[in-house]
Amino acid sequence: MSRRIVVKVGSSSVTGPDGLPNTDLLMALAGELESLRADGWEAVVVSSGAVAAGWATIGGGEDRPTDVAVLQAVSAVGQHRLMSTWASAFEAQGRTVGQVLLAPHDFTDRRQYLHARQTFSTLLSLGVVPVVNENDAVADDEIRFGDNDRLAALVSHLVGADRLVMLTDAPGLLTADPRLDQEASLIEIVTEVDASLEAVAGGTTGVGSGGMASKLAAARIASFSGVEAVIADARLEGVLTLIDANPRTVGTTFVARQHDLSARRLWIAFAVAPAAHLRVDAGAQAALVDRGGSLLAAGVSEVTGAFLEGDAVEIHGSDGSLVGKGLARCSAEELEAGVGSLVVVHRDDLVLLG
Ligand code: GLU
Repeated sequence: MSRRIVVKVGSSSVTGPDGLPNTDLLMALAGELESLRADGWEAVVVSSGAVAAGWATIGGGEDRPTDVAVLQAVSAVGQHRLMSTWASAFEAQGRTVGQVLLAPHDFTDRRQYLHARQTFSTLLSLGVVPVVNENDAVADDEIRFGDNDRLAALVSHLVGADRLVMLTDAPGLLTADPRLDQEASLIEIVTEVDASLEAVAGGTTGVGSGGMASKLAAARIASFSGVEAVIADARLEGVLTLIDANPRTVGTTFVARQHDLSARRLWIAFAVAPAAHLRVDAGAQAALVDRGGSLLAAGVSEVTGAFLEGDAVEIHGSDGSLVGKGLARCSAEELEAGVGSLVVVHRDDLVLLG
């Protein structure tokens, strides 16, 4: 029985100081993944660096562009250079790669999702290593992934991965910003991504393009998908082999939840953006969390934002903490006017996230 590993490599690791793809690193990773294959691991690579490589290629200079049209154009210049470096790196191992460019729509639209899943499964069965990036050249600025961490987590779920490794330029998640606090130490194992951890990660952003906060969000998606996630240092020699040989001792490991969510629930929880936030009272919160009930209009104490039937809404407790997310069975207007027994979010369309 083969196992699957998704390896996400961030822009700062994929590209060297000159902004061009770092051939040595990509060669090393391809070599490691080929060795892991002998132990039964099939690999998917999620690679950033299209914008960085494109910008370097056209001689753009120190500061990355911020203009959306320029970013899109530059990514088109960089993406195939990135792919050509990955292709050479894997060819040196006798392995073929295939490029898969994805957009959020590929996860939110069920038909697209099934198409994408079929493509990955066929590529893997052909012994090809899929190399994934966001379709940056035409990505809609409003709804793009923006960072590849979340994309990598959703891909991990899509391919039914056993492990997601996010390689970056930090040793993992630290208790504090090492530039500000000498006592900062590595958090080795995380069983629950909660608010206190998010506060820690918020303080250490700035390392890499997505930063720690987006890695944490990705780890959360992976964990809910039943996928163990690891944040580790791309510069550590033999990093993937070390993780395989000594699980949970390299970088920061996020333990997977035992009961993974179905594709639909995962989609509700993480892929679709909430249209509104609902605050519920203690009675309603207990009904949702302890008794597996639906959310009724009577339990909603406050609505922020407007929503229509079918939109995603985030549900918060009276103290503001996140309780869950679900699809609304009514519009905000109907909720305002409706009777207390009106079902706002049915339990079948609800994912508890507290
Ligand atoms: N997709 C972007 C690129 O290839 C990078 C996204 C990220 O930084 O995670 O340039």
